[in-house]
Amino acid sequence: MLVPDGLAVATWPAMTLPTDVPYTRGAHQIADGVWAYLQPDGGWGLSNAGLVASHDGASSLLVDTLFDLRLTDQMLSALREATPAAHRIATVVNTHANGDHCYGNALVAGADIVASAACAAEMAALPPAALAGLMRAAPDMGEAGAFLLDIFGDFDFEGIELVAPNRTFTGELELSVGDRPVHLIEVGPAHTDGDVIVHVPDAGVVFTGDILFHGGHPIVWAGPIANWIAACDQVLALEGVTTVVPGHGSVTTPEAVARLKGYFEHLAREARARCDAGMSPLEAAADIDLGPYRDLREPERLVANVAALYGEMGADVATDAASIVGLMAAARSRS
Ligand SMILES: [Zn+2]
Repeated sequence: MLVPDGLAVATWPAMTLPTDVPYTRGAHQIADGVWAYLQPDGGWGLSNAGLVASHDGASSLLVDTLFDLRLTDQMLSALREATPAAHRIATVVNTHANGDHCYGNALVAGADIVASAACAAEMAALPPAALAGLMRAAPDMGEAGAFLLDIFGDFDFEGIELVAPNRTFTGELELSVGDRPVHLIEVGPAHTDGDVIVHVPDAGVVFTGDILFHGGHPIVWAGPIANWIAACDQVLALEGVTTVVPGHGSVTTPEAVARLKGYFEHLAREARARCDAGMSPLEAAADIDLGPYRDLREPERLVANVAALYGEMGADVATDAASIVGLMAAARSRS
């Protein structure tokens, strides 16, 4: 197909399976005019992004920026090499407020930046300058500081100016990229206050942001977990979706979303029994048999999720971010 300015848009063979998309760093075409940018191994801060091009290739929509400017620049370069449409990003969607999904916004500042109103409000709570300050202080912060240096030490937050969304919504928002519909659905609070999923109906693709961690433990920063389970159901109810791009991990299918739902249901049962028995979140996390979920990466997140469940059950546990980081640091040093 030729477009007015002579750019060819490749036709994508529809038979390619999502599970055939290699899990390697870089831009991968996953459907006609749709790319995922992947950062293995999907651990702390190593998030995915995505690009949806209009059918004529004249404009595009970017799903998320990355944790720092260097990584975001590499991602944008890779996407521009993959498709000329990436030179004309008209819209950026931030799926949520965690820095690994929005700290690179300054590099796409000419575009409309869209997020849920709750996400935009939450972004202001931990701007890059605050995280940069925290990382400078980390060497004097004992166990928690060592943990922060271990998980975020390879990123560079110095001097990043966070560009906030200039368009917010609540509930749902219909966008279009050229004549191509892109549907934003707010499913938070769950992972964070304002989680949004990005559905591309004509490609059978959904970008879940961190509603799906694939291959690693999820982490509950906001909750309640019942909302996260409901968010999984909303993803699973999307008609015609065959390809799921998680916030972290390899490109996958809706089956992975069903599996994550099972993780939370399993954890909720196990945490309740241990809360009733008077165990602390750390004791409970060490005691829980994860069964089919025992090989997930970032195992320290288990205690964060147990603490979130304890808090929801009315137990007297601190669930602010600093306390959760402290719990994870303790869990990691015990393992
Ligand atoms: Zn993330």
